[in-house]
Amino acid sequence: MSFGFLAFAFEPSPLQYFCVAHPSSSAKVNGLACKNPALVQASDFSFSGLHLAGNTSNPNGSKVSPVSVAQVPGLNTLGISMVRIDYAPWGINPPHTHPRATEILTVIEGSLQVGFVTSNPGNTLFTKTLQKGDVFVFPVGLVHFQRNVVTGHAVAIAGFSNDILAKAFQVDKSVVDQLQAKF
Ligand code: MN
Repeated sequence: MSFGFLAFAFEPSPLQYFCVAHPSSSAKVNGLACKNPALVQASDFSFSGLHLAGNTSNPNGSKVSPVSVAQVPGLNTLGISMVRIDYAPWGINPPHTHPRATEILTVIEGSLQVGFVTSNPGNTLFTKTLQKGDVFVFPVGLVHFQRNVVTGHAVAIAGFSNDILAKAFQVDKSVVDQLQAKF
């Protein structure tokens, strides 16, 4: 059977094919209000610049460059986003959580120690040192981190199963102390 000229459709969970974020609306339904579909363009689904290194001149020695609904209006309500993360030598993306998003990360330059912590049962640290091309997953809601373990620059690309603009960073100091004790 050939499918070459068949059009497949499915019932997506959203009510429209897309809901490109309206540039000036502050209304929030399940995301931002939709732009008039007749005015939507390809550029609403596009972003340029992820090849550019972020500025890591800060106390953590890392920089997250997001590609979320603020950068790509067409991501609105789709439940997916991504980031580039740059790390100075020994830089760290400190322990944090994404309450609604699982994160999948790959190293494209350098080497990173990564890990996450489960809180029940016990505080178990799952950690691994990644080389270029390696992939690691941080399950939704769990405290996690990345740390550059080489003397050169490191770069990672990560995808999220939800928009992470609403992320909450609330890490108990004891968790940070525990993680640092293991380094
Ligand atoms: Mn993260």
